[in-house]
Amino acid sequence: MKRILAADIGGTTCKLGVFTPELELLDKWEIPTDITDEGSRILEDIHLSFESKAGSHEYSTEGIIGIGIGVPGPVDFNNGILNGAINLNWTEQMAIAAQFESISGIPAIVDNDANVAALGEQFKGAGSGHKDVVMVTLGTGVGGGVVSNGMLIHGHGGAAGEIGHIYVDYNRRFQCNCGKKGCLETVASATGMKNLALNYYENGVTETLLAQQIETDSLSAKSIVEAGEKGDELALKVIDEVAHYIAVALSSLSAVTNPKYFILGGGVSRAGRMLIDRIEAYYRPITFPPAYENTEIIMAELGNDAGIYGAARLVKQFLA
Ligand SMILES: [Zn+2]
Repeated sequence: MKRILAADIGGTTCKLGVFTPELELLDKWEIPTDITDEGSRILEDIHLSFESKAGSHEYSTEGIIGIGIGVPGPVDFNNGILNGAINLNWTEQMAIAAQFESISGIPAIVDNDANVAALGEQFKGAGSGHKDVVMVTLGTGVGGGVVSNGMLIHGHGGAAGEIGHIYVDYNRRFQCNCGKKGCLETVASATGMKNLALNYYENGVTETLLAQQIETDSLSAKSIVEAGEKGDELALKVIDEVAHYIAVALSSLSAVTNPKYFILGGGVSRAGRMLIDRIEAYYRPITFPPAYENTEIIMAELGNDAGIYGAARLVKQFLA
């Protein structure tokens, strides 16, 4: 039987999936990611795990159309080269697709994890039925992916869709992991929410449910959202400012790609309507009208499964 395999490699677990050629999910499971010895066993562990399941899903190596792999680092898509992945202890450039093929004999295609998640949400999740969507993942950092006419946009060096590094904080207050200041990630990720909360607190907004957590350095994005739901002034200022910066980024993206949907995922997006309503309120007045007509800001639907769906979709698009 023909099958498509998918792997979404994370710093703690690898999510694995087996699909039919029509991209119906037959089975999914997780294995721990072994990042010891510079992550040298990760690809082999994935291969062995798929082999151990081969009997139950009626496939052999010959019947596999290919495997799609999502990795947490920057990828040169055209060459299948990963430029390091800190979470996996992969410090060097690695030809992931070629390495997996030599281990398993299975054709492989590799992309960044945020990109495959965006593609998964586009074809199977919240964006289903539309070819132009942008996904924004608000987690520890801000990731993203741009799908245009059903295809991921990679750019000439693979950095397209790095939404977290759009310049939005013109006061350049907080340092970004990329080395710059002012990136969306510094003001809209979980870390960004904490940056903003501390900033308000230090500037005199001290009547807050979060005071003790701020004083004891135990503040989390989750607690900011919860305080916001209780009407806490500082938390609501933070959520409002996060929404404003996201809206600025979405406005620029609209003028470039004019998506049907902006799909929000990741932990920070649990702020839900409280966040989306505010983003909408800021987004429409500053955006080129033809670029937002019929555009909707919605929540992601696939959760942790987005990556394997997107990885399988890549196989269908490029290896089938
Ligand atoms: Zn940055």
